[in-house]
Parts: sequence; C-alpha cells; structure tokens
Amino acid sequence: RAAASDVAGWTVYDAQLGSQVERARQLIADMRDALQHDAFELYFQPQARLDNQQMVGAEVLLRWNKDGEFVSPGEFIPLAESCGLILPLGDWVLNKACQQAMQLFADAGREFVVAVNISPIQFSQRDFLDKVRHALQSSGMPAHLLELEITEGATMHNELDTISLLHELHDLGVMLSIDDFGTGYSSLSYLSRFPLHKLKIDQSFVRHLLSDPNYLSIVHSVIELGKSLNLTLIAEGVEEPKQAELLRELGCAEMQGYLYSRPLPYDQLLSFIQRH
Ligand code: C2E
Ligand code: MG
Ligand code: MG
Ligand code: MG
Repeated sequence: RAAASDVAGWTVYDAQLGSQVERARQLIADMRDALQHDAFELYFQPQARLDNQQMVGAEVLLRWNKDGEFVSPGEFIPLAESCGLILPLGDWVLNKACQQAMQLFADAGREFVVAVNISPIQFSQRDFLDKVRHALQSSGMPAHLLELEITEGATMHNELDTISLLHELHDLGVMLSIDDFGTGYSSLSYLSRFPLHKLKIDQSFVRHLLSDPNYLSIVHSVIELGKSLNLTLIAEGVEEPKQAELLRELGCAEMQGYLYSRPLPYDQLLSFIQRH
C-alpha cells in the first residue's frame, strides 16, 4: 500500500520536475534568440532624496516581453546565470544603459546617476574592468554618473581579487553600491575595506518597518552603520508615505519604490523628469 502511494508520489514529482526543466530549457533558448533580436528592454526606476523629493538617480531594470508574455527578471536572471548567458546579456545591459543614459541627459536637459545591476558572475570575470571602461568610452558616459550595484555574497569570497577590482573601478571613477544590503551573508569587516559609495537597504526590511519593532531596530542600525562609514543610504521598496517619513527621521538619505515611481520605460521616464 505504501509502495503504491510512493510510486504515485514520485510520478507526480517527476512530472513537475520535468516540466520545470523543460520551461528552463525553453527560456534559455528563447533568451539567446531575444538577445540577438533586441527583444530585451531597459526600464528605469527613479530614486529620490527623502528630504526634498528631488530625483537623484535611476536604477536600470531589465525587462523581457517574450511574445506578449512578460517574464520576470527574478526568473530569467538566475537562468541566464546558470548557463553563462548572463555575460553577453550583462554586456548588452551595461552598454545599452550608458547609451540610453546619454540620450536621456540630452533629452531631459539634466544629468543624474544611472545604476546598473551587476551579476556576481560578471563581476568575477577578468575582463570586467575593460568591459566597464569600454561601455563608458563608447557612449561618452561620464564615469561618476554610472553606479554599479553588486550583491554581498559570492563575489566577496575571493576577497583579495574583489578588493583590487573594486579599487580599480573606484579609480575609474564609477560609483559602487551594495544591493539588497542585509540579506546576503554579511561580513561587516569588508564594508570598511571596500571603496563603496552606497548601501541599498533591502526592501524586505522596509516592508516590515512600521509593523515590527525588530525591523525598525535593524534598519536603525544599518543607517547608523552606513553613516559612520560615510556611505549614502538608500531604502528600496518604499511604498507608503509613513515608511518614507520614518526612514527620513532615522537619517536615511534616499528612497526608491512605488511611492515615488514604478520602473518606467524610456519615454515615461522622460515625461516623469519633465513633470518633476
Ligand atoms: P533589485 O536590483 O533589488 O531591484 C529592485 C526590484 O524591486 C525590482 O524588481 C523592482 O521592480 C522592485 N521594486 C521597486 N520598487 C518596489 C516597491 O516599492 N515594492 C515592491 N514590491 N517592489 C519594488 P525586478 O525589476 O523584478 O527585478 C528583480 C531583480 O532582478 C533585481 O532586484 C535584480 O537583482 C535583478 N535584475 C533586474 N535587472 C537586472 C539586470 O539588468 N542585471 C542583473 N544582473 N540583474 C537584474
Ligand atoms: Mg538592484
Ligand atoms: Mg535590491
Ligand atoms: Mg536583487
């Protein structure tokens, strides 16, 4: 009796696994195709100062409209990382972001920092510095207007290589931020040794800020830590005015989230800037 239900259990499990593998395989094939046929698009999410609501920058977020089906980067980025496609895809994002940023500055008549997400896999390549230099040179983008968002974790393993690469990027003049701060395995010691500019407080902390005193203490400590290390703090996932107000009181400088703006395609970002 037990054997029969076990067998049935395995059958169901196997079928689900099979369809997941099949979906992954299909998405990887489609991504290769999409990359060749320019089916990816960059969206921009505005970032603002908490004290005066002035827009200070925008984060570039990759969007993929797969024949009418919107596939989330939460799904396709890990797949691209698993098969190496993140390297050509990441190159495309970096170059496109710099080109579009230059166009935006011209169209909007003002400049701001444009932040690009960098996968740990891109970051661990020997030629990453050259890739960044190339993207800046070929677009004419000033280095100080490009911010690279890296995550805690994998990249921090090989500490010596990480530190020297970060210094080279710093010398190039680009801004460096830690994304999703607090969710990786945090070694606080690296914070003081890495030439960083910004900490992005993860949205999971912001989400519970008003309802859970433990999260309030964590956010409070992260802000104090960042301030003592001279880092700019930006809170992610700010959706409510009360969250923004509290974050400002706690000393957080900047915010990003649906409260200020959703991620926008180029044209909508342009009209957002013109309205503000
Ligand atoms: P992330 O870098 O932490 O980006 C922030 C995510 O939070 C984005 O999700 C954004 O749309 C979402 N978000 C912004 N404000 C709010 C808010 O107020 N509430 C909520 N609930 N969510 C908000 P998205 O665009 O789906 O991207 C997910 C993740 O995919 C990103 O997290 C990033 O890790 C990765 N990703 C996106 N684009 C790229 C890319 O070009 N390269 C790489 N390597 N990763 C990317
Ligand atoms: Mg990010
Ligand atoms: Mg984040
Ligand atoms: Mg993330």
